[in-house]
Amino acid sequence: VYATSYKERLFNGTQVKVPMGVEVEGMNILGLVVFAIIFGVALRKLGPEGELLIRFFNSFNDATMVLVSWIMWYAPVGILFLVAGKIVEMEDVGMLFASLGKYTLCCLLGHAIHGLLVLPFIYFFFTRKNPYRFLWGIVTPLATAFGTSSSSATLPLMMKCVEEKNGVAKHISRFILPIGATVNMDGAALFQCVAAVFIAQLNQRSLDFVKIITILVTATASSVGAAGIPAGGVLTLAIILEAISLPVHDISLILAVDWLVDRSCTVLNVEGDAFGAGLLQNYVDRTESRSSVPELIHVKSEAPLAALPDHTEEGNPLLKRCPGPAGDADTCEKESVM
Ligand code: ASP
Repeated sequence: VYATSYKERLFNGTQVKVPMGVEVEGMNILGLVVFAIIFGVALRKLGPEGELLIRFFNSFNDATMVLVSWIMWYAPVGILFLVAGKIVEMEDVGMLFASLGKYTLCCLLGHAIHGLLVLPFIYFFFTRKNPYRFLWGIVTPLATAFGTSSSSATLPLMMKCVEEKNGVAKHISRFILPIGATVNMDGAALFQCVAAVFIAQLNQRSLDFVKIITILVTATASSVGAAGIPAGGVLTLAIILEAISLPVHDISLILAVDWLVDRSCTVLNVEGDAFGAGLLQNYVDRTESRSSVPELIHVKSEAPLAALPDHTEEGNPLLKRCPGPAGDADTCEKESVM
């Protein structure tokens, strides 16, 4: 793992600080994430031969999740002692509570801005439809997401509402929403960035440009990897902290307020998926209406062939003569029914 340090060098007679790469102890998380993505693409390329390994990793992941859900029962007691230990260590306990409050407020504000302004604006920009009407249609699943803190638990209700209230076709919602509930987590990515900066500040570590970019990249990747279960994002937060060499055990502080942050985070996660389905529906509607050919029906005409308008050189695209065996008496004509 490489980190940036600064060394003093003499340059044209003046001392300047030059950034230097140095090797540090620790796990190369960023490298692992990049490897995992490329390995996943390679497995997909293998086709049926890669299926075995994909199934292995999927069941490995499922088993880990079962273990995590058991451990989560023990979490309240564990968190109590972890936070108590941190409080004893702190010189200024008031400051810890104030900074946890600011962290929570920052996450909630970020989620509100993203969910009420950014996502609706994106939807409006591409569809020119009222995004708040769309949001009103999915208010029940959003409330469910807030109550359960789980994208996966909200999925069936979200499918029902986007289909019945927002007019998204079944084949779109049933394709987009399950994928979205697994990989698209706007709320998780947002709170993970805030949490990483919060922990860095708490440990009085400054973050340079490279570290900020590392946070952005690993937060995006780890939010994709987070499961749609309560506190799924907190678990993958460890990846980000490892990547920027911050103490992973400080996650205990995040866990203390995660019961609230996770709720707004889940609302945002499912809202993003629903808007995604709405956007795709709009795109499909537009392409279908653009490529639709006027439907033609057969109409029998009593008029003699000669009475019909004359053929032009190009012919009338909406009019077709088909003289029957009885000559001009049996004429068929096609008309547009646009
Ligand atoms: N609870 C979130 C969800 O289910 C995941 C997270 O913790 O970020 O979408």
